[in-house]
Amino acid sequence: MIEILTFTLGPASTNAYLLANPETGETISIDPAWDGHLILNAAKDRGWRITNIWLTHGHFDHLAGGAAVADGSNPPPPVSLHPDDYWWWRNEGGAPFFGLRIDPGPEPTIDLAHGMTMFLGAHSIEVRHAPGHTKGHVMFYLPADKICFCGDVIFQNSIGRTDLPGGDYDTLIESIRTQVLTLPDDIRLLSGHGPETTVGQERRYNSFLQGARSK
Ligand SMILES: [Zn+2]
Ligand SMILES: [Zn+2]
Repeated sequence: MIEILTFTLGPASTNAYLLANPETGETISIDPAWDGHLILNAAKDRGWRITNIWLTHGHFDHLAGGAAVADGSNPPPPVSLHPDDYWWWRNEGGAPFFGLRIDPGPEPTIDLAHGMTMFLGAHSIEVRHAPGHTKGHVMFYLPADKICFCGDVIFQNSIGRTDLPGGDYDTLIESIRTQVLTLPDDIRLLSGHGPETTVGQERRYNSFLQGARSK
């Protein structure tokens, strides 16, 4: 069984996740949002090794803990990001727009692309490009485990903001229609902010999606 730890960290109350294969200790840090030492220590306490950092997108509140996670891991885990969000990474994830400075951590070396399949042990993870909040936003979908890490695409009864550079409302709605609402109702959505929800719940009740039904 795969194990998930959730942390809510930093000035934007961002959800960071550890996705672990407890049999091997191999662990992926998804969106090391802030306070990387907390993420690192939680992994170490369980005997887990962080072998990869995967970013849903390049905003600072999703990656500011990556430097500490990488510094405390041997070897430092490679960082994966969609190339359309490298601009954000190079600009401290946009932290200066909000009057903040951060260390964006190690440079991404693995380019995420729509349709890529990645593995944690025997668990397959599909990369789904879902632009609109940012141009290079991706989601990580584990079909067998019925989980989707959806970042800032969709939240419980809300959707990602589209007023930052590269954001586009119509693109986001189209991404939700084609990349989220096409998933089965019982898929758990683990978002970048706020509580966990499901595809079915958002399909029925998300007030931003009326008229955005999947075909
Ligand atoms: Zn964001
Ligand atoms: Zn966010």
